[in-house]
Amino acid sequence: MIVSRRTAIAALMAALPVAALAQASDYSIVPERVADGIWMIHGADAPILRENGGAIANIVIIDTPTGTVLVDSGPSLRYGRALKAAAERLTGKPVVRVYITHLHPDHGMGIAAFDPAIVAALPQTIGDLQRDGQGFSDALYRLLGDWMRGTDLVLPALRIGSDFEDFGGRRIGLIALAGHSAADLALLDEQTGTLIGGDLLFNRRAPSTPTADLDVWRASLDRLRTLPHKAVIPGHGPFDPGGVTAIAQTRDWIDWLETTMTQAVASGLDMVEAGQLPIPARFAEMAAARYELQRSVSHLYPAIEARMLPRVDIPNP
Ligand SMILES: [Zn+2]
Repeated sequence: MIVSRRTAIAALMAALPVAALAQASDYSIVPERVADGIWMIHGADAPILRENGGAIANIVIIDTPTGTVLVDSGPSLRYGRALKAAAERLTGKPVVRVYITHLHPDHGMGIAAFDPAIVAALPQTIGDLQRDGQGFSDALYRLLGDWMRGTDLVLPALRIGSDFEDFGGRRIGLIALAGHSAADLALLDEQTGTLIGGDLLFNRRAPSTPTADLDVWRASLDRLRTLPHKAVIPGHGPFDPGGVTAIAQTRDWIDWLETTMTQAVASGLDMVEAGQLPIPARFAEMAAARYELQRSVSHLYPAIEARMLPRVDIPNP
């Protein structure tokens, strides 16, 4: 018997359980209530992988008197649509605002599912997306394949210029910071004291540094620590109900990272050796620690080498 390619594929598809096919392409959106009228969707504490569809960032849903507010939108059109449906089901109100905390695509590509007129970001973030957004989008298509189908780069239409927004009496503080990227938005729900840190804050998950300025990041962490808050929703990792751990742990990691890399350059290690250095036991609970250390070496090592090992073949000016 001659079996055509088409017949063989049809037979294979029929043999696959339908549930497995559906599961392969659907995001699981599970909002976890963390304060009165606030839910967090905990992203996978892992790198962006086909297995998680890029859904690694934490997303926040806030129920306000005038409608549903979202903080970040996930990695793709498909995620954004699922998020919108889940959030509106939860609150019974339409989404009226989507804040994008910073330019990274695991947080912002999902705005393809929303009217850009309700999407707000810091002006610098919008400029950075204009410059880098298409490259991020291409990278996600390569990494995630079908998960990204139909996702176009969409820019937020609203440029954040004030330090709060009032949704029928529920005030959300908007704090313009930087350090994880050139512009990082943190938000404070004044009613519950919930601080939403974006990727300025990581909890039990190693911070990522592809666009980081560590000195600026430290200054932002100092500012976040002084804000009147009770709890923290980090950009990655579990909810921090005491509001202290995520800030302290992020600070500890970036301080250790900079000291360790500076010592590694001073002792003549190359980048591969630096990426293999031991990670202290106090970071043992941090997900993706080795992965992020090795990424950080590749992002930050060249500048440290340039600073510490000046060229000797050209005279000083
Ligand atoms: Zn980020």
